[in-house]
Amino acid sequence: MTRARVLLLNAALGPLDYRVPHGMQVEPGSIVVAPLGPRQLVGVVWEPESFQEAETVGDNRLRNLLAVLDAPPIPAPLRRLIEWTADYYLAPPAAVLRMALASLSALEGARTVIEYRPTGDAPDRMTEQRTQALERIGGRQGLVRELALIGGVSDAVIRGLVKSGAFEPVEVSTDTPFPDPDPDFAPPALSEEQSAAAARFVAAVDAQTFEPFLLDGVTGSGKTEVYFEAIASAIRGGRQVLVLLPEIALTEPFLERFEKRFGTVPVSWHSGLRQSERRRAWRAISSGQAKVVVGARSALFLPYAALGLIVVDEAHETSFKQEDGVHYHARDVAVMRGLQEGCPVILASATPAIETRHQVEIGRYTEIKLPGRYGGAEMPEIVGLDLLSDPPERGRWIAPPLVKAIDEVLEKGEQALLFLNRRGYAPLTLCRHCGHRFQCPNCTAWMVEHRLTSRLACHHCGHVLPTPKVCPECREEDSLVACGPGVERIADEVAARWPTARTAIVTSDTLWSPAKAAEFVKSVEGGDIDIIVGTQLVTKGYHFPNLTLVGVIDADLGLEGGDLRASERTFQQIVQVSGRAGRGEKPGRVFLQTRMMEAGVIKALIAGDSERFYAAETESRRRANAPPFGRFAAIIISSEDSREAAETARLIGKSAPQIDGMSVYGPAPAPLSVLRGRHRHRLLVHATRQLDVQAAIREWLGNVVWKSGTRVAVDVDPYSF
Ligand code: ADP
Ligand code: ZN
Repeated sequence: MTRARVLLLNAALGPLDYRVPHGMQVEPGSIVVAPLGPRQLVGVVWEPESFQEAETVGDNRLRNLLAVLDAPPIPAPLRRLIEWTADYYLAPPAAVLRMALASLSALEGARTVIEYRPTGDAPDRMTEQRTQALERIGGRQGLVRELALIGGVSDAVIRGLVKSGAFEPVEVSTDTPFPDPDPDFAPPALSEEQSAAAARFVAAVDAQTFEPFLLDGVTGSGKTEVYFEAIASAIRGGRQVLVLLPEIALTEPFLERFEKRFGTVPVSWHSGLRQSERRRAWRAISSGQAKVVVGARSALFLPYAALGLIVVDEAHETSFKQEDGVHYHARDVAVMRGLQEGCPVILASATPAIETRHQVEIGRYTEIKLPGRYGGAEMPEIVGLDLLSDPPERGRWIAPPLVKAIDEVLEKGEQALLFLNRRGYAPLTLCRHCGHRFQCPNCTAWMVEHRLTSRLACHHCGHVLPTPKVCPECREEDSLVACGPGVERIADEVAARWPTARTAIVTSDTLWSPAKAAEFVKSVEGGDIDIIVGTQLVTKGYHFPNLTLVGVIDADLGLEGGDLRASERTFQQIVQVSGRAGRGEKPGRVFLQTRMMEAGVIKALIAGDSERFYAAETESRRRANAPPFGRFAAIIISSEDSREAAETARLIGKSAPQIDGMSVYGPAPAPLSVLRGRHRHRLLVHATRQLDVQAAIREWLGNVVWKSGTRVAVDVDPYSF
């Protein structure tokens, strides 16, 4: 090849052609350095015929490529995935490529990673935790984090052991392979239902063809053990596996389970890795050496050499939807990646999205069901508590029947979980003297009081300020009052009612790192916690056999906004949190505090009838021509200048095309009309399934010119609006 088409890492540009100098070897996928004006940019060589719209220049005006990086080329399936993602989500291809090469700087990073290995010397002082850690770790070597995990202790304990000489650092080259998971290390005895499901997955993995699955089983049905068999089969076949998890807090329990089954932890990929760790992972992934990778959304765009299976666990989770930069849904991109790679994709969930169920109904996805809980554990009984007829006392939030149930649980030495999806102490803080409310200076949002840290915080942009002693408006002292409950306030009530109970508050404020999450799990498992008070973070993944009671403080919270997915989200959240109750031998009970006993979703929850919920919800979507039947796209126009944002939105709205099967609503101020200091307006596009809505929007926006400083982002299949 003497001429190469290169997609540079600069979102403003399309692909450009370069000359390949004599003696340089490139192929599609090669990562190269190319000149652009006075600058040098990294890019990837694409097929010469790709990107029809690429500008071409005559041979004599071509500039030379400067270098080829010492890294494996980006494989063809990943190049196709990048093209598809850019096309479908209306994003510049270079912006998608940037996600795939996010770790590229790591290639230039340090060539060694520091691991620790046991010296065999006894530490200066023995504690129970140290003994346990040393026993469990045995002769193993690893990163502090991995050793802590295997040892079942916090990072600090491992660091202490290093200091006291029981472990020594070893420099490991980033070319050192990761230990291989052993598919036959500790296979479980599967139930009959599990075996049948596993056999189906194993057959699909061995066939090495694309097949999307929905693994649909109630919470505690043993879905993980089932897809572990599919993973084992891929490993035996020498192929790689990607497991996507919705939340970094879930990584740790996953790694632990994986280690028990396969004898070693998988390679994890997340934002907390150091450059050198990234470099090592990247190389092992692109060479095919890393067999199993677990990660968040970003792991989808890594250059796997031989992907044989993708698993999306808790596939209904909204955190798979990326809301800034390239707006994409990792669940849907995962299915597309499976198609490109020619491998099966398993979406596992106890509460699949309506969209996913629909794919099953129209025959695109294969549904594998696990109807009962593993080991015959009963599904918890769900009881509705009508707050209108049986309200809590003034200034309290836990209604009398729930108080009584907690009394009983504590008496029996079991554990309870109180769920409220609101961080902080109170959602709204105001001055009782003048009525002043605290609003975020950057966003259209109220500041939320956090008593644990004595701060007011914006949950949208992260702006924080110390909770003031005097009202900034009227100067009255100690006049601030909290309105409504957050988890911290519920924890206060718990402390007042059950002063001897041991309580843990679980939110992203308290479980901000994998180590904190691991500590939390240990303390609940070890029986050091009686009552957990938490947000959605506690609804997923955890398995606490002694937890027998769940109280939902406000089941109506998610229904208030009234957006398209309000019922679905409420249903999923409550089923998931209910699923934490009674997972062991003792049966579980769930109390739903509600003012809407008659709402369809609440009735279905109390009846334990998910089919009824899905049928009703699907029907109402069909009538509204909402997803999965019709489709939406949002066009968000933002600028720091409020007039400019409004003006551009009006301009774009005015030039909306008239197309059969497509309606355009707005512009109107976006739900958060000011976010991080940018004023936001929105147009909403509603179209039929048959219409190529991307093509329509591409042409439409291509014809409008707006001022620089104004950003126009398209959100195809927006999650909420
Ligand atoms: P799900 O992911 O469907 O909620 P899990 O896979 O977490 O369910 O399984 C629930 C519990 O049952 C876990 O503690 C798991 O270890 C246990 N379990 C599931 N299947 C088996 C099995 N075949 N043998 C032993 N334990 C199992
Ligand atoms: Zn803010």
